[in-house]
Amino acid sequence: MGEFELIRQYFQPIADSLPTGALVLGPGDDCAIQRIPADQDLVFSVDTMVEGIHFPEAYPADHLAWRALAAATSDLAAMGAQPVCFTLALTLPAADEQWLSDFSRGLSAAAGTFHLSLAGGDTTRGPLTLSLQVHGTVPRGGGLRRSGAQAGDLVCVSGTLGDAGAALDYLGEQQPSADVKVVLDRYHHPHPRLALGQALSGIASSAIDISDGLLADLGHILEASGVGATIDLSVIPLSRALCRLKGEKALEFGLHAGDDYELCVTIARSQWSAMPEEGEEHLTVIGTIESEPGLRLTGGSENTDVAGTGFDHFRRKS
Ligand code: ADP
Ligand code: MG
Repeated sequence: MGEFELIRQYFQPIADSLPTGALVLGPGDDCAIQRIPADQDLVFSVDTMVEGIHFPEAYPADHLAWRALAAATSDLAAMGAQPVCFTLALTLPAADEQWLSDFSRGLSAAAGTFHLSLAGGDTTRGPLTLSLQVHGTVPRGGGLRRSGAQAGDLVCVSGTLGDAGAALDYLGEQQPSADVKVVLDRYHHPHPRLALGQALSGIASSAIDISDGLLADLGHILEASGVGATIDLSVIPLSRALCRLKGEKALEFGLHAGDDYELCVTIARSQWSAMPEEGEEHLTVIGTIESEPGLRLTGGSENTDVAGTGFDHFRRKS
């Protein structure tokens, strides 16, 4: 199958099946065209996933497509952006029709769910690699950044943390238990917090999506904002499935594991009452921003391992 036949069969139908909205011209020309209303900013980001590094070898193609688009879209959620369209640069070792059909099904489902039109792409031969560029818009000046956290702000996270990371221990499981199914689904089918991010635009002082683990990603907010924080380890939201599967180790997954694509945001106390239900429903307050740099932890047991990614230079409060 040639490159163009492959695009026509597996990717053009995805573009054709989705509403185009602000995407004026989709795949088939030299470029796609997106119209940006005068009162909006274009927000865009690119993410690459390489087989064996960002996903396991022989990982099912439908899950791969969903995860790759979800991971890219999560960056839009963290900016409070409304998704518009994406491009896909796909490098494939071979044109395996079963693989392409599974991939295209997963991609179509994810694109429909996240309201992203397929704008175009690039298809090449080589080791399995995907690059996805996502485009969204925010009301002019309204993009949520990492750099706005201020002393006194509440530190909040959405959903529950650690499930997707725990799933890595069970990827090969033939007959998963109900709890294992819960965490596997978090790994295979992450749901970027798009509605929450948009609801927090104009309310949160800073935001980041948790792709590398809570402590590492919160560290990016603290650094970008030039502040510190105290976090209460006893209130980190963990799913019951994770607690049952990992026992007293569950908290370590909640602190260090990536791939959940929840949001970590800071909000001035005075803004908390302005929070739409959409926000309050999903957010747990886990700590407070302070002017003293560094991350201080309270409420943990002596057994909790707080050393890990990006954590060396932080210290523990007695
Ligand atoms: P060019 O050589 O001008 O860069 P290409 O031959 O790379 O164009 O691609 C032809 C058209 O097919 C372009 O409009 C491009 O966006 C689209 N395309 C290529 N690969 C994909 C893909 N995987 N998914 C969707 N559209 C694609
Ligand atoms: Mg090209």
